[in-house]
Amino acid sequence: EDEELRCIGCGALIQSDDPAGIGYTPESAIKKGLETDELYCQRCFRLRHYNEIAPVSLTDDDFLRLLNQIRDADALIVYVIDIFDFNGSLIPGLHRFVGDNPILLVGNKEDILPRSLKRTKLMDWMRQQANLSGLRPIDVAMVSAKRNNQVSDLLEKINKYRENRDVYVVGVTNVGKSTLINQIIKSTTGVKELITTSRFPGTTLDKIQIPLDDGHELVDTPGIIHAEQMAHVLSAQALKLVAPQKEIKPRTFQLNDQQTIFLGGVARFDYVKGPRSGVVAYFDNNLNLHRTKLENADAFYEKHMGGLLTPPTADDKDDFPELERHEFHIDQKSDLVIEGLGWVTVPAGTTVAGWAPVGVSVLVRKAMI
Ligand code: GDP
Repeated sequence: EDEELRCIGCGALIQSDDPAGIGYTPESAIKKGLETDELYCQRCFRLRHYNEIAPVSLTDDDFLRLLNQIRDADALIVYVIDIFDFNGSLIPGLHRFVGDNPILLVGNKEDILPRSLKRTKLMDWMRQQANLSGLRPIDVAMVSAKRNNQVSDLLEKINKYRENRDVYVVGVTNVGKSTLINQIIKSTTGVKELITTSRFPGTTLDKIQIPLDDGHELVDTPGIIHAEQMAHVLSAQALKLVAPQKEIKPRTFQLNDQQTIFLGGVARFDYVKGPRSGVVAYFDNNLNLHRTKLENADAFYEKHMGGLLTPPTADDKDDFPELERHEFHIDQKSDLVIEGLGWVTVPAGTTVAGWAPVGVSVLVRKAMI
């Protein structure tokens, strides 16, 4: 019984403890698989039967192994990021691991950003941000995987740049990589045998290979967990309340210094110093933004967190991490980003502070808009 069982689709070690992990297979399916000599992990099973890729995540060791596979491959790297959470989407050190392989940078979830924002400008901005993190993408694309916007343009770009190579799709968890691949599968005709059935004894590939027309493959790699994502601090329920599902309506505030805006009870923005100015908040439309005086803010939070300032709710407020303060001097128009939650655009010549749960990054970047 302690013999190593591997999925005949992707080669992953079969396990039935962690449903979100690689190789997960329910006990009952393992039994059945062994009987029929067709043991697939749940992810490969779903892909075979429902043409559907399910997300799966990775531990640190596996992550390093994955990066090495990418370096050794001769492939076009399709790097999917969540345009709403650019910094939370970055794969640390990816640029060191891609080797000579070209990167096509894909900003997903464009449906969340205000319509009024010029897409070409946003793509320029994405490229600049990528450069800052050491990446030189060969091209940039913007899609909404969920709404199937611009996915066919992306496919054209993929075909243009892959030049008879395999395609590796990489991204951290939650950027919508699975949703995107499922759209690609849908729009690609002639995909029948979606995954190979050959065995890979002794090797763990942990990746799913989808055949392309010319004998090459589109490879789905496991999502990499980015520890500082909001998703790992909030409960699943609270996350639903703060993660935008629809086009964001920017909210403008005329602020005097020494004023605070609470972002529900999950975060806080302080206008510390500077002239009276307009700041623009980009958060989920349903997230309650509440303005108070800075000097009263601590007491106000103490009193109303879990009530007026929600999420968290009264039920989960006791488990909610403390907010940590991060102060910045702003010398060009910038976004104060609360990773995974949204951002506030602030003018030059100001001092501001962002408060976020311990473990969630707060940073300043050149304004997107
Ligand atoms: P993965 O972990 O990267 O494979 O991400 P998933 O494909 O599982 O998607 C993560 C979450 O983002 C899900 O709730 C999706 O519905 C959502 N999502 C994916 N693509 C889009 C998109 O284009 N727009 C929006 N608004 N949400 C998306």
